[in-house]
Amino acid sequence: MDDCLFCKIGSGEIPSKKIYEDDQCMAFYDIAPAAPVHALVIPKQHISSILAADDEGLLGHLLAVARNVAKENGLAEEGFRLVINTGENGGQTVKHLHIHILGGRSLAWPPG
Ligand code: 5GP
Ligand code: ZN
Repeated sequence: MDDCLFCKIGSGEIPSKKIYEDDQCMAFYDIAPAAPVHALVIPKQHISSILAADDEGLLGHLLAVARNVAKENGLAEEGFRLVINTGENGGQTVKHLHIHILGGRSLAWPPG
């Protein structure tokens, strides 16, 4: 989709610190990390939010990739958090589905 930041990152038009890529998705480090490890997993196709995600196979794949990124960044032993911010109250700023992978410190709960 034109003018979508994460579509441009997914296609390589905008550079990122890439962690993983396949034909369906890409994982890269967040530009403004909120924790010592902060990565994002996105589908390559434009999906505006989890509300618009109809492909359950793709959703499962994105979750598995997020889990693998957490493990490969050494987060399995001490734990981590996967987050999908959705809509205004959810704090979603980029309107392209993404899973946050956060870890490397103790994370507060409940979120602010
Ligand atoms: P949201 O607030 O929509 O859940 O998350 C969007 C995330 O994208 C934020 O954590 C923000 O720091 C990250 N972000 C915004 N622009 C860029 C960018 O150009 N490159 C990367 N790697 N991350 C970005
Ligand atoms: Zn997009």
